[in-house]
Amino acid sequence: MCNKGTLSPGKVTVTHEKGTFFIAIRDVPARVCDHCGHYFLAAPIALRVESAVKQAMTNGVDVEVMRLQAA
Ligand SMILES: [Zn+2]
Repeated sequence: MCNKGTLSPGKVTVTHEKGTFFIAIRDVPARVCDHCGHYFLAAPIALRVESAVKQAMTNGVDVEVMRLQAA
């Protein structure tokens, strides 16, 4: 946290990389710093992102770009 910006509601793209696996999840609701772009996910959102990552890894994909599904 840069302590210079203000956190506003917005949408971010969360990326996750592990070895040859890469996933980008778009349209993830978050609170975004208007100064440095750092973002914070609410706990339920973070859980959904985590399960989407696990699902993609289970499916054995190398690269996945997706949107976060509505709850
Ligand atoms: Zn910041």
